[in-house]
Amino acid sequence: MTKAALKVYLAAPRGFCAGVDRAIKIVEMALEKWGAPVYVRHEIVHNRFVVDGLRAKGAVFVEELADCPADRPVIFSAHGVPKSVPAEAERRNMIYVDATCPLVSKVHIEAERHAEAGLQIVMIGHAGHPETIGTMGQLPDGQVLLVERAGDVATLAVRDPARLAYVTQTTLSVDDTADIVAALQARFPAIIGPHKEDICYATTNRQEAVKAIAPRVDALLVIGAPNSSNSRRLVEVGARAGCSYSQLVQRAADIDWRALEGVRRIGITAGASAPDILIREVIDAFSDRFDVTLEEVETAIERVEFKVPRVLRTQTA
Ligand code: SF4
Repeated sequence: MTKAALKVYLAAPRGFCAGVDRAIKIVEMALEKWGAPVYVRHEIVHNRFVVDGLRAKGAVFVEELADCPADRPVIFSAHGVPKSVPAEAERRNMIYVDATCPLVSKVHIEAERHAEAGLQIVMIGHAGHPETIGTMGQLPDGQVLLVERAGDVATLAVRDPARLAYVTQTTLSVDDTADIVAALQARFPAIIGPHKEDICYATTNRQEAVKAIAPRVDALLVIGAPNSSNSRRLVEVGARAGCSYSQLVQRAADIDWRALEGVRRIGITAGASAPDILIREVIDAFSDRFDVTLEEVETAIERVEFKVPRVLRTQTA
């Protein structure tokens, strides 16, 4: 039987960012240095495939530091942790390695500096996301106000409208965040923003690539986990940019082939925590069913790399 023709537009950049790459390396190097088990507080990055792979090598994933024995090393995930977490690890004399992405740490430092200057911090982010918890936790409880959507701004009860600064989660929708910032600036004209955008390069670049592809395709698949903020934003960006079928899939087995019947042009991208092997698996699944012509749509070139912490570098030197 002849296969139907299918044009596949592959977004570039897609998949792993420098922060995710570094966080995974940290766990692997910690396992080499200290042997198994190495504890990891929270999923190191939001991807089950990655987590299962590290678990098979001896990583033990827990949600709280209290679940880690004091005599084994613990790693903090790429999303960042409240200040209370390393403080508790130190109190228990634990060996810990912080895999917080340097671009999340930048936001932490920003929030602290503004607070030291006497400004109240407004955080734009998603309630309950570990990154939001980590950033808000750089300051004592109750000091950071959370805004999730532009509609929240009208009811925000601030200490002093003239002494405010905002920070954001790194993985938000660029366009939604611009709306929220505009609402904040309209109500609090003196509010101070970050020197350099908090939404990271990887989030911005992946959203731009989706915007370039979405209007050209009948369907867009975003490879990523349901708890991956940046992946879910890519699905929304695709829908808003004109693709009526924009879906998240964790891997090829999740593809709803029936929903894709009659599709002739498809877009594929992947969130910052989705490994290449899953992208390949999805492309292969399409090649099994269709006569695929692949075209990469590159909207940015990324050369960002982050070093792993010194404690791990010295060991392999
Ligand atoms: Fe860092 Fe951005 Fe990757 Fe998050 S998505 S780990 S902030 S580079």
